[in-house]
Amino acid sequence: MKQLSLFDFQRLRNPGPADVAATADGVIAELGLTPPIDTKTVASYLDVSRIREMELEAAGCLICDGRDVSIHVRASDGEPRQRFTIFHECTHIFFRGFEKQPQYRCNPSVMPRRDDHLEAMCDQGASSLLLPEKYLRADLLEADFGMGTLKDVAETYQASLEASGHRIVDLAPYPTLFVVLEVRKKPSERHNLHAEPKLRVRTARGTPDWPYIPEYKSVSVDSPLERALQGEIVHERTTLGELSREYVPNVEVSARVVPYNGHMRVLALYRRNP
Ligand SMILES: [Zn+2]
Repeated sequence: MKQLSLFDFQRLRNPGPADVAATADGVIAELGLTPPIDTKTVASYLDVSRIREMELEAAGCLICDGRDVSIHVRASDGEPRQRFTIFHECTHIFFRGFEKQPQYRCNPSVMPRRDDHLEAMCDQGASSLLLPEKYLRADLLEADFGMGTLKDVAETYQASLEASGHRIVDLAPYPTLFVVLEVRKKPSERHNLHAEPKLRVRTARGTPDWPYIPEYKSVSVDSPLERALQGEIVHERTTLGELSREYVPNVEVSARVVPYNGHMRVLALYRRNP
C-alpha cells in the first residue's frame, strides 16, 4: 500500500485515483487516526476553519472567501452520508488551485463515476478517508462474508451501508458483487398508471470477475432477492439468476431489506465460490 504526502501529491503532474487514495492513506497515517476517522481532525489538518450544516440542494460545497475555507453539508442528510461529503470536500483541497474557484458545489456519490474525472477522484478520496484500506482490509480478512459484516463495517467506520458495500467490493479478499435494488418502475413506465413497480436494480458494482448488470433489471417473484424484500434474511448458495444475461452458477448471496428515505430497498452481496 503506497502512501503519499500532501506535499508530494501536489507536485504530481497528472494525479490519478490511486494517487488520491495514497494521499488519503498518508494523511491518516500522519495524523495517527483510527476508525471511525474523525472528520474535524482531517478538515483542520487541511486548514478548513469550519464545517457547517445548511439547507443545500447539493450534498455539500466548499467555500473559499480568499482567507478562510469552510465546508457546508446538507442538513437533511444523515451523519454517515455527511461524513462522506465532508471527506469528499476535503479531497478537493488536495488539488492545487482549488481555492482559485470560490465555490465548488458538488454532489458526492458513493458510486465511482466516470462523468467528471475530478469529482470521481474526490469520491475515491472520500472512500479512502472514510473506510481506510489499512484497517478495512485487515477487518475483512477476519470477518465472515455477508450482510452482517456489511452492517458491522458501516457501524465501525460510521459510514453509510452503500459506501461500505462499495468499499467491500474494493477490499474484500474474494471476488465480490454489491447490488442495490429498489421497488420502482422502469423509466418507460413512469407515466403508466397501470404498470406495477417491481424490485429492480438501482446500482451494481463488482470486481472485474462479474458480468455487467444493467440498471432497472427486475427480479422474478421466486428470486432470493424478492424473498429478502419480503423480510427474509437471505444467505444461500444460488446462481446470479436473471440479473445478468451470462449464466453464473455457484455463487453465495447474502441479502436483506433495508428501507431508505421511504423507498423499499434491498441490499445484496454476492461472492463466487471456488
Ligand atoms: Zn466535488
